[in-house]
Amino acid sequence: MAKQDDHFKKVTAHAKEYGYVVQSSEIYDGLAAVYDYAQNGVELKKNIREYWWKAMVQLHENIVGIDSAIFMHPTTWKASGHIDAFNDPLIDNKDSKKRYRADVLLEDYAEKLLQKAEKEIKKAAKRFGDAFDEEQYKTTNPRVVNYLAEHQQVLSDMGRYLEANDLAAVKALIEEKGIACPVSGSKNWTDVKQFNLMFGTKIGASADSAMDLFLRPETAQGIFVNFLNIQKSGRMKIPFGIAQTGKAFRNEIVARQFIFRMREFEQMEMQFFVRPGEQMKWYETWKKRRLSWHLSLGLGEENYRFHQHEKLAHYADAAADIEFNFPFGFKELEGIHSRTDFDLSSHEKFSGKKLQYFDPELNKSYVPYVVETSIGLDRMFLAVFAKSLQEETLPNGSTRTVLRLPAVLAPVKAAVLPLVKKDGLPEIAHQIIADLKFDFNVIYDEKDAVGRRYRRQDAAGTPFCITVDHDTLEDQSVTLRDRDTMEQKRVKITALKQLINDTVSISSWLKKIDSEA
Ligand code: ATP
Repeated sequence: MAKQDDHFKKVTAHAKEYGYVVQSSEIYDGLAAVYDYAQNGVELKKNIREYWWKAMVQLHENIVGIDSAIFMHPTTWKASGHIDAFNDPLIDNKDSKKRYRADVLLEDYAEKLLQKAEKEIKKAAKRFGDAFDEEQYKTTNPRVVNYLAEHQQVLSDMGRYLEANDLAAVKALIEEKGIACPVSGSKNWTDVKQFNLMFGTKIGASADSAMDLFLRPETAQGIFVNFLNIQKSGRMKIPFGIAQTGKAFRNEIVARQFIFRMREFEQMEMQFFVRPGEQMKWYETWKKRRLSWHLSLGLGEENYRFHQHEKLAHYADAAADIEFNFPFGFKELEGIHSRTDFDLSSHEKFSGKKLQYFDPELNKSYVPYVVETSIGLDRMFLAVFAKSLQEETLPNGSTRTVLRLPAVLAPVKAAVLPLVKKDGLPEIAHQIIADLKFDFNVIYDEKDAVGRRYRRQDAAGTPFCITVDHDTLEDQSVTLRDRDTMEQKRVKITALKQLINDTVSISSWLKKIDSEA
């Protein structure tokens, strides 16, 4: 755990030092759970958004994008169920005065049981060597059996109590399990209360005509209310999808994990409209497709796992998370939800407008079912950034910090470095930038010895350094250094564009996504 905390601290410090993420309004001591993206952060975020957008909209003939407004008619949120049900169960510790989400306390408790079981399994695997049968061990070793059974029991009890809105039972479960406040160590808890996460605001100039509004807590509703506009103007045939990226706002109860949980954040969502009865097939398909998108970035298959929801949201008939191995353990990165016809039917009811699709093959009209994929852009940013930040010991015993961002996502693709600030080398470096800048984000760096400049670019995540030296004057060649391997090769200036493109081009990365999924 200490090691994990340590890495997480490094991640936040590195993000600030290298121009990725800073706290919002820092000069006023910041605003809790609100962050700004600096010069490199904005590029990384844009590149992740583009990678998602192209994978969704460009690679699928039957998916189109929209950009709907953050403000929506307030009845939207009545229809979607957010006014009545977009709550989190909160609980306070009376001694530390810290506030927690009751469900998160229980989930963390359950996760620890899982970790204990895994530890036992690992130990046994080492002890038994090749003869180890994990499945048999899991079902026969009493300690492991107990850990796993309790893990399951806690989650399913919690799911049942939350479903029934039995908050007293949720509190009793926290007490029964002896869960203590991580800050005070005490078990002195208040009752559990429901807390609505939407931010309210007003639109209109005069007090009496002003209308109460909410800042959208998800981008999905902008898609639902536009469903028929898009279907008709795009002559879309079911199955088809509508994608959108944009800001969402949630007054989160606990917001202590940097950009993992923010009060203002960005979502990338896609609603896929299908025939009623076909939703499970599409739900499974989208689970596969989304995992394949993640794997294409090469952060390591072992860092992803699916988590099936015990407690379903008010609109869902199946839901799974893709969890990622963040510096603080496996947590939700993306949700894939089968939302039934809940949203469209509800908007029909509240608006009095038909939101149906005429299916020419079936020769009838119906309200489509929806399978949604929903990922937080900021959370994806954290996943990529945290996993890419590595400390390496080199063969000569020295260490280097390297930010191994997938090259397609790196903010700056190459840094051009004149070996010295004279003899015409800076002029050649500037000329190289002038040629490359139409295709890539490239920067100039002439300060310090070249070795230090390499290290600086490694830590900033720049995949290539291009060094101009005195030989360049003779042979029109430069040294191209690779961030990950640190290999240096001599290449012609005229070959640079192609060489960089081979590594960073979005099309070559998109081709890594399993098109069969
Ligand atoms: P959690 O259980 O972590 O609160 P959720 O299940 O409420 O998340 P969804 O409503 O499914 O989340 O939202 C879809 C995605 O939006 C999440 O998988 C996550 O990546 C992102 N997301 C949700 N809330 C936040 C937040 N406060 N800050 C950053 N990203 C968020």
